[in-house]
Amino acid sequence: MSKTHNSLLDDDRDHIWHPYSSINSEVPVFAVQSAKGVYLTLEDGRQLIDGMSSWWCAIHGYNVPELNDAIKQQLDDMAHVMFGGLTHAPAVKLCNKLVEITPEKLETVFLADSGSVSVEIAMKMAIQYWQAKQLPGKQKFISLKNGYHGDTLGAMSVCDPVTGMHTMFSDVLARNYFAPSPVCKFEESCQPQHISELASILDMHHQSVAALILEPVVQGAGGMKFYSPEYLAQAKALCEQYDVLLVADEIATGFGRSGKLFACEHAGISPDIMCIGKSLTGGYMTLAATLCTKEISETISQYPPYVFMHGPTFMANPLACSVASESIRLLLSSDWQQKVNEIEQRLNEGLAPCNEISDVEDVRVLGAIGVVELKQAVNMSKIQQSFVDAGVWIRPFGKLVYLMPPYTIKAAEIDILCNAIINVLNDGKHL
Ligand code: PMP
Repeated sequence: MSKTHNSLLDDDRDHIWHPYSSINSEVPVFAVQSAKGVYLTLEDGRQLIDGMSSWWCAIHGYNVPELNDAIKQQLDDMAHVMFGGLTHAPAVKLCNKLVEITPEKLETVFLADSGSVSVEIAMKMAIQYWQAKQLPGKQKFISLKNGYHGDTLGAMSVCDPVTGMHTMFSDVLARNYFAPSPVCKFEESCQPQHISELASILDMHHQSVAALILEPVVQGAGGMKFYSPEYLAQAKALCEQYDVLLVADEIATGFGRSGKLFACEHAGISPDIMCIGKSLTGGYMTLAATLCTKEISETISQYPPYVFMHGPTFMANPLACSVASESIRLLLSSDWQQKVNEIEQRLNEGLAPCNEISDVEDVRVLGAIGVVELKQAVNMSKIQQSFVDAGVWIRPFGKLVYLMPPYTIKAAEIDILCNAIINVLNDGKHL
C-alpha cells in the first residue's frame, strides 16, 4: 500500500538525516512525487518551478527523454562492472570527450563518485607528483577564504576555515594556508594590492606547498561571490613562478553555468588539475572526474610506487558515464551559450528591484547564477515555506537567496522566480 503524505514525512523525520540538518529541525521538508522539465511535483499535487537545478546539477531540467534513454540502453548491456583491470566503451567515450572539451593541457582523467572525492583525488595527485619529483616536503595547500571544496576531511581542510568549521575539527584537519577572498569584482581589473597576500604566502611557503586550489571566478557555497578573471590569470602566473600546481575546482562552474563552458576560460588559463562533477551527468547520477596534465600522470607513474594510490569501487560506473556523455552531447548541440546569456539578462532585470529592499546588501548576476545577498541570515523555516507557497523551489543559505535554474527555463518562469524573491523579501517572510 502506498504511504499517505503525512506518514511519508513522519517516517522521514523519524529516521533520516538531510544535508546539514538536525533531526529535530523545524525547517520543513517537502515530499517530491516527480519532476519534469523545470517543474517539481509535490506529493500533494502542487507544482513548483525549480530555481536550484538540484544544486547546480540539472542543467537540462528533469526527466529528459534523451538522458532517460541513455541510461535505459546502457542498462541492457551492464549496470556496473569493476574498473580495476577492465574498461568499457561508456568510460572511454566520456573521458575522450572530457579531454577534448576541457582546457588544453588536461589529458588524463580519473573518474570518481562525487565532487568531494574528486577534490581528495586532486590533492593526492598533487602530493604524489611532488614526491615523484623528489620534493616530498611539498604537501600543503593554499586556498582562498570563502572557498568551498567539499565535506570530506581533506576537502574540508581547504574550505574557508570559519564557514568550513575548522575549529570543530581542528585536531583532525590538515593545516593549510588561506589567502583572502579576492575583492576585485568580475568586471574589475586585478590590481597588485588585490593579489599581494596570495603572492606573499607563495613567496614565504612555496617550498612546502603542493598546490593552490580555488574555484575559478565563482566562489559558490562559501559565499556566491564572482571575482575578476584577471585575478585567476595572475594566480596561475604566480603558481608557475613558484613551482606550485594550480587545481581548478570547476565542480559547480563547469558545463556553462558562468557563461563559459568552464570558468577557467574567462581567464584563458589551463590549470594543472581540474575537478568536475555536479552537472557532468545532467544531474542524473553521481559522478565526478579529476583531470590532470600528462606531465603529472606520467611523473606519478614513473617513480615509486609507480601507481596513483586511489581506486573507488564504483569508479567509471557505466550508467553514469553513458548519461554524462549524452548530457554533454545535448549541451553542446544546443545553443546553450545564447540560452545562458538570456537567463543572465532576465535575472539582471528580474532581480534589480531587490536593490530597493532595505534588507538587501547586494544583488549580483553572472551567467545563469543570480544572487541576492541580505544583511542578515534568513529564517529558513519561514522563507522555505513562503517560497513553496509561492510555487517556487528556492533554497537559501545564511544571508544568500540565489537562483541557478535549469538552462531550459523560459523567460516567464524566470520572472516568477524573481517575483517570488521580491515578494517574500518585501513582505518580511524571510525574518
Ligand atoms: N567543490 C565545489 C565548488 C562545490 O560546489 C561542491 C558541492 N557543492 C563540492 C566541491 C563537493 O561536491 P559534492 O557535494 O558532490 O561532494
